[in-house]
Amino acid sequence: MSDDHLRKGLRVAPGERPRLDRIDPGDTLGLADREEAAAVVAACGERLEALQALLASEDRRSLLLVLQGMDASGKDGVVRALCGALNPMILHTASFGVPTKPELRHDFLWRITRELPERGRMAVFNRSHYEDVLVVRVDGLVPEDEWRARYGQITRFEERLAETGTAVVKVMLHISRDEQLGRLRERAQDPLKRWKFSADDLRKRDQWDAYMAAYEDAIERTGTDDAPWYVVPADRKWARNALVLEIVAHVLERMRLPEPPVPEGLPPGFLEDPAGG
Ligand code: ADP
Repeated sequence: MSDDHLRKGLRVAPGERPRLDRIDPGDTLGLADREEAAAVVAACGERLEALQALLASEDRRSLLLVLQGMDASGKDGVVRALCGALNPMILHTASFGVPTKPELRHDFLWRITRELPERGRMAVFNRSHYEDVLVVRVDGLVPEDEWRARYGQITRFEERLAETGTAVVKVMLHISRDEQLGRLRERAQDPLKRWKFSADDLRKRDQWDAYMAAYEDAIERTGTDDAPWYVVPADRKWARNALVLEIVAHVLERMRLPEPPVPEGLPPGFLEDPAGG
């Protein structure tokens, strides 16, 4: 099975409305088991090793990966998998929770802009500006005309990022309601996971259908060629991590990062092997 197949099955075409109820969160895109997924992760690790070096040495463009998904869909797990594959020198991570008072005194993109990746670097957002058309819409935190206007504002914002050298890729981790219940229960039971549990997660769970509609709208209205959405089935953690790494490696490859030239100003004979000379 080609890696291409893995990724292509997940990409949402620009302007297309994904039918989340028809995408199976338990799908593994043909990955048979953990072993096969581990082999994909290892192969992606090798590709990423080279690609991040090229990204850093070019020192001109950057990559932004946006992770969205319901509670317990595995955003933290994916961030950990990326941290395992990428040099912390080039990877910046940021999480976006309930906005603080100072953040609320600015427009919704202000706090996002502050965490964008520098040239030659990559950033992963655990939640993002999309919360401003998800939780904000479902809980009615701003009037409808305000959140509706944000689809266009987000598209223009991401268009500008692409024009100025930041490749943007957006991933929705698609978990089933049943799997989420199991994970939330485990969080409440396990003393080591309890810090992640919030009673508010159960309230959001009751709003499941409203969230799915909000996700479908957001993906339909903000997916573009320059900032595409991928819906990644997320019930199997091993498949989910392999799929996201595959997407990231592919996006970096598509940037066609050049190999750096030989450094200038080297003393004569510096590059020759002394044993050979
Ligand atoms: P997580 O649940 O991802 O582990 P936190 O405990 O920090 O992280 O909580 C994130 C919470 O913040 C989520 O419930 C999310 O819906 C909420 N949130 C994020 N952005 C916004 C926003 N712009 N407005 C309101 N709530 C937001």
